[in-house]
Amino acid sequence: MTDLLLTNARVLDVRGGEMLPDRHILIEDGVISAVSETKPTTDADTTDADTIDVGGRVVMPGLCDSHVHVTAATAHLSAIRHWSPAYVTAHAAKILEGMLMRGFTTVRDGGGADWGLAQAVDEGLIAGPRIFFCGHALSQTGGHGDMRTSGDDGIGYSWLTPGLGWVCDGLSELRRACREEVRRGAHHIKLMVSGGVASPTDRIDSTQFSEEEIRAAVEEAEAANLYVMVHAYTARAINRALRCGARTVEHGNLMDEESVDLLLENEAFLVPTLSIYQALADEGVEAGLPEELYRKVFDVLDAGKRALDMAYSGGVKMAYGTDLLGQMHRRQLDEFAIRGEIIPAIDALRAATCNGADLLCRTGELGEVIPGAQADLLVMDGDPLADLRVMTEPETNLRIIMKDGVIYKNTLN
Ligand code: ZN
Ligand code: ZN
Repeated sequence: MTDLLLTNARVLDVRGGEMLPDRHILIEDGVISAVSETKPTTDADTTDADTIDVGGRVVMPGLCDSHVHVTAATAHLSAIRHWSPAYVTAHAAKILEGMLMRGFTTVRDGGGADWGLAQAVDEGLIAGPRIFFCGHALSQTGGHGDMRTSGDDGIGYSWLTPGLGWVCDGLSELRRACREEVRRGAHHIKLMVSGGVASPTDRIDSTQFSEEEIRAAVEEAEAANLYVMVHAYTARAINRALRCGARTVEHGNLMDEESVDLLLENEAFLVPTLSIYQALADEGVEAGLPEELYRKVFDVLDAGKRALDMAYSGGVKMAYGTDLLGQMHRRQLDEFAIRGEIIPAIDALRAATCNGADLLCRTGELGEVIPGAQADLLVMDGDPLADLRVMTEPETNLRIIMKDGVIYKNTLN
């Protein structure tokens, strides 16, 4: 791989929260090797480097979306388990490419993506963000990951059936499911510990899995040096999962002050996903959302905004999540606009960069423009610290998109 030198850059230091003017960024073998005020000349290799003058534009780290479903080609999730895996993959390739073109160079999947998809991206067969995956999201019978309707008695699917969830009950089934996902290379274990909006038979205010089961999953994850990510809406579900050792809480819309204390105590992350509710509020009717659910969406969205505010005031570490499905994936950058109304721009940007890296246990490797990090870089028009809305128009504002030192878009020359 040819070395690359970006000159005349304003580097967004996401941890420090400031712009570093007049920087030169040297990239060798897909990794940032120097970020300096003077043009690096000491290394003989740099004379061979291709140089791009970015003209004083902002260079920021590639984005990380910590809650996606890259195989969710339709909002009708129960349909996907009847699809051919090849067909699902073809859809996922399009979804992944869309994400990369919005500036996302890393995503964490909350159910659906598997080792094959991650491998296809790593090998360059699919242009997309690198994928941290869990395989299936584990769910109890009748839980948020059980896509059967009340009249559907058949399980009748195998581990290779595409679909976001996997149903397991009791300690031995749960441990087996965790071990199977670890065997297939999972980066984290995902548990559905409360009801949800999109599942056919459960209620949003139910708790799911016994505490014993959640603890067993945490033990299995920790044995493999992994962690547990939980889907949870209500304070009751969130707080009991945190007491059982969950490390990242997804959604969290109906959390309370005790949730804030437990998140801090456990050094856990909150991953709000406000974009999906905003999307459902805006286009839920067209997407075929039943009237009764449609009304609930607004309450859940408002609660989610209050939760974001409460978590931010309490000092909880948050990552960027979207949880979008089907056609709604195009709204992946809306999360910036929604959060920007509630918290400072820099904290919305941190959620999508360095905090995402910390959540993934990849501190220093991802989410920052520093020596030693992967060369995941965005060159952009506009200053997102001054106006977060520049993030929401990638077609015009994102001039260069680079992942691992490979340029996927360049409209500068
Ligand atoms: Zn969820
Ligand atoms: Zn999700």
